[in-house]
Amino acid sequence: METLRKRIQKIKKKRPAYGQMLDFYLKVREEQEKTKASLAIEPIRLKKEWKNLLAKEGFSVVEKKDFPIDIEASSSLFQSLCEIGKKANPHMAEQVRKIEECIGKKKINLKGLFREGADQEKSERIAKDLGLDKKVLFFLIHNSIRPSIEAAVEKLLNEVNTETWMKGYCPICGSLPHLSLLKEEVGKRFLLCSYCGYQWQTDRIVCPFCSNKDQESLHYFMAEGEENYRIDLCDKCHQYIKTIDLRVIGEIDPSLEDLATLHLDVIASQKGYKRAVPNHWISQ
Ligand SMILES: [Zn+2]
Ligand SMILES: [Zn+2]
Repeated sequence: METLRKRIQKIKKKRPAYGQMLDFYLKVREEQEKTKASLAIEPIRLKKEWKNLLAKEGFSVVEKKDFPIDIEASSSLFQSLCEIGKKANPHMAEQVRKIEECIGKKKINLKGLFREGADQEKSERIAKDLGLDKKVLFFLIHNSIRPSIEAAVEKLLNEVNTETWMKGYCPICGSLPHLSLLKEEVGKRFLLCSYCGYQWQTDRIVCPFCSNKDQESLHYFMAEGEENYRIDLCDKCHQYIKTIDLRVIGEIDPSLEDLATLHLDVIASQKGYKRAVPNHWISQ
């Protein structure tokens, strides 16, 4: 956490406009870390058949609803995130109050949503029915159970071998990646799952969203003086993914670096490309 705090201070100095958002990010992360320290979850027991399916057929091993979630810890984290949200900005404050009201009136079954593992479609449906901002509701639910999900994934690491996976979606939970990372001297490329935080290796030149490998229609751009961040564009599906080169900047928090380089997303959008997995932090 200390490294994270220092990194945030550094980014704020360079890009003061991101200050408010980064403060919000830090507060959420601090609460999640606290929760992580006291979690009580069962490890996921993988059946042998599942592991074979993973290797041979390309099925992810865990359904979102099968992640073991510490419901009590998630509920108290949810409350803390609501308090942070109330101080974040007027829109979020208003949304949080409405969400708390709906929970109080039992229009939202929070624990049920946790148990189902932050089903995005379902939480969007509920938000629509109740006139809530769907992004805020999903953000709060997903970030409340995220420590449980990450802890479960950590326990799984020794059990699954995803070296031959090479697909554009997560071998653990099947979600799409929100970032790509370059690591190690030879520049191995990894994709980072937007839902469970798992990282898996992929080809260096491929679009994770449409599997396009044609070099003519895959290209990238980066901003001057920021060569460790680039936007990988695909002309086949007109989507992009941000790639962070960790070989120079080291093992950092990729989601924080993503927030610190939103200007690259603006350029990509101006060029007519869509981000396949929206950045859930900026809509707050
Ligand atoms: Zn995943
Ligand atoms: Zn593509």
